Amino acid sequence: MSNNVILARMGEVTLKGLNRGNFESKLKNNLKYRLKNFGKLNIYQSQSRIWIEPVEGEENPYFKNEETATEILNAVVQVFGIVSASLARKFEGGIDEIRQNAVEYMKEYLKIYPDHHTFKVESKRGNKHFPMTSPEISNEIGGYLLENFDCLKVDVNKPDFIFNVEVRDYCYVYAGKIMGHRGLPVGTAGKGMLLLSGGIDSPVAGYMMASRGMMLEAVYFHSFPYTSDRAKDKVVDLAKIVSRFSGRMKLHVVNFTQIQLDMYKNSRQDMLTVTMRRVMLQIAEKLALQNGCGCLITGESLGQVASQTLEAIQFTNEVVDLPIFRPLIGLDKEATCEISRKIGAFETSILPYEDCCTVFVAKHPKTHPNRDDIIEAEQNLDIAKMVEDGLNGIETIII
Ligand code: ATP
Ligand code: MG
Repeated sequence: MSNNVILARMGEVTLKGLNRGNFESKLKNNLKYRLKNFGKLNIYQSQSRIWIEPVEGEENPYFKNEETATEILNAVVQVFGIVSASLARKFEGGIDEIRQNAVEYMKEYLKIYPDHHTFKVESKRGNKHFPMTSPEISNEIGGYLLENFDCLKVDVNKPDFIFNVEVRDYCYVYAGKIMGHRGLPVGTAGKGMLLLSGGIDSPVAGYMMASRGMMLEAVYFHSFPYTSDRAKDKVVDLAKIVSRFSGRMKLHVVNFTQIQLDMYKNSRQDMLTVTMRRVMLQIAEKLALQNGCGCLITGESLGQVASQTLEAIQFTNEVVDLPIFRPLIGLDKEATCEISRKIGAFETSILPYEDCCTVFVAKHPKTHPNRDDIIEAEQNLDIAKMVEDGLNGIETIII
């Protein structure tokens, strides 16, 4: 009798010292939450790995074979802290049972990876009462697989896949693995307020901070009807994509229309982007403090646009006290797009709905503002009132 189980490997978590227990239990809880729609599961840890299997006596369609397990494996590897995961067969017995399960496992495996032909066997023997050594097990199982599958060939240097045998209190066989997103379990590094626009950069910035263990909330500045409801829906969709990795989050939608109109009328045109960002950050900071967030997060990348020069960043930084994390600051656009594709956000991000910065954009923004520019641009604005108005018109959506 054998069962299918998922074996998930932890990465950086295992380097933690005294706190390691906290990180591990967070990781298990996050897995439990992420997998809540996959039936009743038993999630436990042993030998610095996490094992996931259906609760005994429960039929679970996802665990039938490697093909049906793909969906659950893909969810497992999206949980930060997991380096890779494999579907394994778990059973009791001796070398005969290992042989038989190895063949059955390979039949399923080759349906999914028909172009995998070369392999080597690696064995681990944790149960020292087992009558064969690890190399003997590897030889035996390698030979048996060759006898049973004409398409397979051994290659110890650069095999298409490694076939693993582990003998512990139970025996396990598995091959191949799906790579995870690494990082640290969300919930181990406090909470940050992400300034989420409809673009490519900010969802990636949120993903990157979550990968360091940070929980997220998000704020979006919406200027209806200059930005349409479809633009807002797009931000909601992006928040959902980020939350696959970061877990449940609140999205605060600030009604920004009146503030932008005021600014458009009463501020220096070439300074609009910087003044607008200074107000955004002040609203975001207040919101962050109200919601227990210890930092702000943006998708800025140095030099990318007028509001992202060193001077513009200095002048937006100075209006808030909370640290602002800009994980993309040193990445070029292509590197950001690559991450955006990897997390499944790119197709949504490039949908052509205007964001507020493109509607009220200056034709010739000042790229290297100085103190006098800032003072002049803001002299006719009642910034404190703008911030207060912004905070008064918020819709909060639970993602
Ligand atoms: P993105 O691709 O994230 O939209 P961007 O390249 O368009 O960024 P900017 O428009 O200068 O660059 O915005 C820089 C950052 O400011 C964004 O990454 C985001 O964090 C924040 N931001 C800009 N507009 C908004 C908005 N309407 N609501 C919330 N945050 C915003
Ligand atoms: Mg943008």
